[in-house]
Amino acid sequence: ERTYLIGGNWKCNGTLAENEALISTFNEAGPIPDNVEVAICCTYVHLPQLLATLREDIAVGAQDCAVYEKPGAYTGEVSAAQLKDLGCVWVIIGHSERREGFGMAGEPAELCAKKCKVAVDAGLKVMFAIGEKKEEREAGTTMAVCASQLEPLAKVLTAADWDNIAIAYEPVWAIGTGLTATPEMAQETHEAIRKWVADNVGADIAKKLRIQYGGSMKGANAQELLAQPDIDGGLIGGASLQADFFNVVNGVP
Ligand code: 13P
Repeated sequence: ERTYLIGGNWKCNGTLAENEALISTFNEAGPIPDNVEVAICCTYVHLPQLLATLREDIAVGAQDCAVYEKPGAYTGEVSAAQLKDLGCVWVIIGHSERREGFGMAGEPAELCAKKCKVAVDAGLKVMFAIGEKKEEREAGTTMAVCASQLEPLAKVLTAADWDNIAIAYEPVWAIGTGLTATPEMAQETHEAIRKWVADNVGADIAKKLRIQYGGSMKGANAQELLAQPDIDGGLIGGASLQADFFNVVNGVP
């Protein structure tokens, strides 16, 4: 059926020396199960290091890309085409940290959707991150928030584009907090997301779509999360900076 997708999101961490040590740990961590695809998304500047030295059965990706389709006068931006040219397979788009903007202007849902389309058109695969904040969950609007993040995406993608998309459901309150959604809570939302895609995009696409869970996922809780029928992988922050990442990889059913 669906192949599991375990992504590591290193965020803005790492030096060349720290990465070298972590890459050796991963390279020596033993075989990756046949039903799992693994990717590590690092900073732009560390992409060449990972592409050159990380084991070949782990794909490499970025954590964002420019919204512009063509090269040009966009100082400081990195395009999807440049990431593809370098050898990246994946890019994370719409991470909640970018949607929030680190205290500055964040990325609106339409911008995230457009970036996703540009990335897929450039030949990249996208982990498209969505999820609600604590007060939104408490107000009972979790699925309304997820739908508002998915709607602009459904508008810009063609049916074929969805082959190159995974949805990363990351409840914002669970990110970096040690508070994980319970497997039941996560499953409930994953099921609702898949139903939304079935109703608004297509039943076949929904069936094939991989939905990753993200938010304080680690070796100790991976197995019970990954055992849920609609949880098809993870997007791992903190634990992906440690050998424990492979406990997540090996935690698939
Ligand atoms: P943590 O695993 O550190 O909670 O981060 C999750 C995340 O944001 C992955 O994109």
